[in-house]
Amino acid sequence: MLPERFREILTESLGEQTASELLPHLEDTPSVSVRPNTAKISTEGLRGHFAELYDGPVDWAPESFYLSARPSFTLDPLFHTGAYYVQEAASMYVGHLLEGILAEGRPVRRLLDLCAAPGGKTTDILSRIPDDSLLVTNEVMRGRATILAENVAKWGRANVLVTNNDPADLKGLDSWFDFVLVDAPCSGEGMFRKDDEAVEDWSEDNVRLCAARQRRILSDIWPALRDGGYMIYSTCTFNHFEDEDNAAWIASELGAEILQQRHFLPGRERGEGFYCALLRKSGESAVADGRASSRQRVRKPAPAPDCDYVRDGYTLALKGDLLKAYPASLMEDMQAVEASLKVIHSGVAVATVKGRDLIPEADLALSCALREDAFPRVELSREDALRFLAKEPLAFPQEPRGYLMMTYCGLPLGFVKNLGNRSNNLHPMARRIRKSIN
Ligand code: SAM
Repeated sequence: MLPERFREILTESLGEQTASELLPHLEDTPSVSVRPNTAKISTEGLRGHFAELYDGPVDWAPESFYLSARPSFTLDPLFHTGAYYVQEAASMYVGHLLEGILAEGRPVRRLLDLCAAPGGKTTDILSRIPDDSLLVTNEVMRGRATILAENVAKWGRANVLVTNNDPADLKGLDSWFDFVLVDAPCSGEGMFRKDDEAVEDWSEDNVRLCAARQRRILSDIWPALRDGGYMIYSTCTFNHFEDEDNAAWIASELGAEILQQRHFLPGRERGEGFYCALLRKSGESAVADGRASSRQRVRKPAPAPDCDYVRDGYTLALKGDLLKAYPASLMEDMQAVEASLKVIHSGVAVATVKGRDLIPEADLALSCALREDAFPRVELSREDALRFLAKEPLAFPQEPRGYLMMTYCGLPLGFVKNLGNRSNNLHPMARRIRKSIN
C-alpha cells in the first residue's frame, strides 16, 4: 500500500498523467541486468554465458543486457572472477553520460565517486576511463566501504583508491577533481518494487530530511571540483525536492549550468526509478591543478624485493610484509590522496613476503596488473571452481609444484599451492562462499 501523501507528491513532481502511468508499475517484478567487465570479457562472451537467460540489451548501455530471471550469482564462478557486475539498468545511465564527456575530449583525469558503495557506478566508471586517469571512490559507512573495496579489487583495475571519509573531509583536495559523481543517499522511492522497507520507511518528513542532507553533502564536496569540471548528481527517487529542486539549487547557489536532467520511470523505461542531472561548474580552468593540502607527510615506501608477478608500468612498494603494485604514472596523485584521506584500498596487493617466498595474494589473480604467464594455469570445471570458492581441498597431479593459478572460463579465480601430495587453497576465508553447492 503506497502512502497517500506519496501519491500527491508524485503527481506534483511528475504531473498527473506521468504519475498515473507510473503507479501501476510500482507493483511489477524488478528487472535484472548485468554489465560486462570489458577488460576481462566481451559482451558477446558474457551473452554466451547467459545464453538461456539473455533478454535484450539495455538501450542506453548497449554492452549490458537484461536477464529473463535472476540466477544465483553466488553459485556462478564467473561472477567471482569479476567478469561482470549485476547492476540496475537505469543507473547505467551515469556511465553513458560520462562516456559523452570523455568523447568530447575534455580533460577528465581525476574523478571522484563520493557515495559509492557497493560499487555499481564505480565499476562502470572504471571500465570507461583510461589507465592514466585516477578514480577516488569513497564511502562514509565503514562496513559498506569494505564491500566497495572488495568489489573494486574484483573489478581488477589499479587506477583507483577506495576511501572511507565524510564528504567534509575532502576539503583538503581543493579544486582537485575534474569530475564528481554524487549518487546521493535518498528516500528511495525508485526502489519501492525492489525493497519493501523503502515503502515502510517513506514519509514526507524523511523526504525533506533527505533533501537537506543532500544539500549538505553537495556543499561539502563542491570546493573539490575544479572550475569548469563536471558533476553528476543522482538519486533513486522521484520527488522534486530531492531531484529537480536540488539540481536548481546547485546551479543557483553553488554556481553551475545544468546540461541535462533525466528521470527513469518503471514502465516507461526498463529498470527501477532513477534521476540524474549532469552539471558543469561555472568558471574555467583547463585542468584540475589543485594541490592536496596534506595532513601527513608522504612516507617513502620501503624498497621492494624483485617480483615478476606483475606487468610493466607498475611501481612495487613494500608495506609491512605486503608487496603492492601501483600504476607508475599515478604514484604522485595517489600519494597526495593517501596523505589527506583515510584510504582503505589502493593499488594491487601482489604478494605477502615470507622469507624468500612471495605468496601471491588473492587480489592479484583478479587484477589486470597480473602478468599473464606468471603462474601455471589450471582450468577448473564449474563444480571444482565452486569447491575452490568454498575453500574445499582440490586434488592435483604431483607436478608442477608451487603456486598454481585456478581459472574458470579462462579467467583467473585465485591461487592454490601444490605441495605434490596435497595442496593449500589460498582463497581468502572472508570470501569463502557458504551456500551448498550440490
Ligand atoms: N553509488 C552506489 C552504487 O552505484 O552502487 C550506491 C550509493 S547509495 C545510493 C548512497 C550511499 O551514500 C550509500 O552507500 C550510503 O552509505 C552513503 N551515505 C549515507 N549517508 C551519507 C552521507 N551523509 N554522506 C555521504 N554518503 C552517505
